[in-house]
Amino acid sequence: MMTNDFIQYNYVGEFAGLIMAGLVFVHMLYSRPKKTYVYKFVFLGMALSIFSILVHLSILFVANNPDKYYNNSLFMGQLLLFLLCYDGVLYFIFSYVNMMSIVRRSQRKEFLMMYASLSAVYVIGVILEIASRNFYILELDGIDISHFVRYYTGAGIVCAIVCINATLSNLKNVSRVIWHAVFKITPAIMIILIAQMLVVERYHSVFTSMTYVPVFVMGYMLFHSNPYDEVTGCQNYFALDAYLDKHLGKRKFYISYLSLKFPVIDKIVMDTEELTLQGIATCRKMESVSSKIKMFRVSEREFVNIIETNDEEEFLKCINSIRGILDGTKADIKVPFNYILVSGEVWPELDTIIRCRQYFEFVAKRFKDHNSSQFYVATPRDYDDFMEEYEILLTLEDIRNRLDLEDERLMVFAQPIYSVETGSFRSAEALTRLKIGNKIINPDKFIPLAEESGTIHAISCIVLDKVCKAIAEFEEYYDFDAISINVSSKEISLENIYSDFLEIMEKYDFDISKIRLEITESAMFEDFETANENMNSLSKAGIHFYLDDFGTGYSSIERVMNIPVKTIKFDKSLLYKSLDDDRMDDIMKYMIEVFKKNGFITLVEGVEDESQNQYSVERGFDYIQGYHYAKPEPIESVKKYFTRKNKF
Ligand code: C2E
Ligand code: CA
Ligand code: CA
Repeated sequence: MMTNDFIQYNYVGEFAGLIMAGLVFVHMLYSRPKKTYVYKFVFLGMALSIFSILVHLSILFVANNPDKYYNNSLFMGQLLLFLLCYDGVLYFIFSYVNMMSIVRRSQRKEFLMMYASLSAVYVIGVILEIASRNFYILELDGIDISHFVRYYTGAGIVCAIVCINATLSNLKNVSRVIWHAVFKITPAIMIILIAQMLVVERYHSVFTSMTYVPVFVMGYMLFHSNPYDEVTGCQNYFALDAYLDKHLGKRKFYISYLSLKFPVIDKIVMDTEELTLQGIATCRKMESVSSKIKMFRVSEREFVNIIETNDEEEFLKCINSIRGILDGTKADIKVPFNYILVSGEVWPELDTIIRCRQYFEFVAKRFKDHNSSQFYVATPRDYDDFMEEYEILLTLEDIRNRLDLEDERLMVFAQPIYSVETGSFRSAEALTRLKIGNKIINPDKFIPLAEESGTIHAISCIVLDKVCKAIAEFEEYYDFDAISINVSSKEISLENIYSDFLEIMEKYDFDISKIRLEITESAMFEDFETANENMNSLSKAGIHFYLDDFGTGYSSIERVMNIPVKTIKFDKSLLYKSLDDDRMDDIMKYMIEVFKKNGFITLVEGVEDESQNQYSVERGFDYIQGYHYAKPEPIESVKKYFTRKNKF
């Protein structure tokens, strides 16, 4: 038999395409791809690819075994079916590439028209080819389909050229990653197409699927299986993590964190499409500042730029250009917005992703409440501050996790409080310090962090225990009324504060009224119901409440009257203002009178010198606290301010 010598097609290439398409298609079904606007084109394209390859394989199979399977009209039907599929595949590729640009999306109709005309030419070509009767040639011992293959690969080449042209003419609004992909992959595809055209007749090798399957695979992998944001062309959150994971601690680079702040006004009529376009244009401009800039979109309004350089000057140049672009957009755009652009060197110590992110968030946090745009380049000082805060947070968390009531890192200080009536010290306020190594951290720094990190309640429990221990020790030999403890407003609305506090106090054998609690008015804003309930139960158990910092924030006498507090602690700022200003002095007099008339005890804080002391006594304050009498000192030594009991 001569048959085998004549035409035996080799279709390894088609099988490779089939396997590749099959695997990726299964991945598409069982993973969670990003189903953006253009996803349908890749998905349907991939499905159609699989079908086309099967049709093509059936054609090749018949061509290889004509004596067994060839049937004139059936074969022609197979060829036409494939040509139809191929046209569909080209349509999906064409739409995918074009619809990536949202400018193009608005010209959808024109594109469809253009595609329809190309298809019409293709169909007419097919008809002419068939009419000329050399579309495929049936020989005695084989079928020559090279003409057919050359025909459709020709159509493929035309489509590739149109795609390149579409990208070129649209360069300004297509992101770098898209046109990079198009410019790299399309020429490669064209080379394969041309090779297919040339080799089919001589070597009888068919691998056309290798020209369309990879296009869909590439699109899927780039934009849907992960890392790119299709609209802005920026890489996403995961890609940033992957980048940092690879480079952190290994080389020097710079980062900028950009956060956009839009006003929260519902009534703004936004032309969202135009806004999106301007946003995209801005991203494009930032990206084109330098090829060393990599853009990531980490959330809807937050972007991260990595600037791959170790030259500070170059970095500053890049970051200034970015700032200029943002200011330009600010001037052009209809909707008012502000931005926070924080950037800086990625210090080698920022060696984990979390730390790196926390650092820039830490720096940016300082500008969160500003109502104008902020541009800031971080300094080594910021890094030290961050590390300090980071260390504090770790320490607080460790303290909470161990919950060791003797933890030496929490140092309880106390400041005695002078009673005007008795002319002696009758109570004290406990004030906490945090000890980390040799450093002593003040509460102004760590209390807010403890509140934020949810460690505050553990801290209070330890402080309470230490204070109880001190009271139990003092009680035998000293005469005093109580020691007060500060309770954060976030804490007083916790469900279990009552039982936790009671449990600690009941461990010791002294009258519960020796512990007092200081809360601020802001406690009333958190969760009023629970806070009030807790205060009522603790009051019933015998705990006396102080209202701390009265006169700061939104003090309201009326509200104060309705909560179970007994003592009003006037903030030092009220005292200082009253000494300066006669009208404030009148208000002070009036407030003291109202409180006293209603059975409240009054206390003034921050008395530093004799004149302030004299004023406080004259105005009738019951208690005075301040450096004038004593500074806070370790709680053990506060007993010396109290009168000794006559006990031998
Ligand atoms: P605060 O409750 O208003 O405490 C009074 C603060 O004023 C203390 O600062 C005290 O050292 C300071 N001070 C006392 N006398 C004078 C004075 O004559 N002049 C001036 N300028 N200041 C004076 P400290 O110890 O740094 O505490 C700051 C704040 O931290 C406290 O303000 C309190 O709100 C909070 N805090 C302290 N310890 C704890 C705690 O264990 N738990 C909670 N939740 N907060 C605490
Ligand atoms: Ca206080
Ligand atoms: Ca206070």
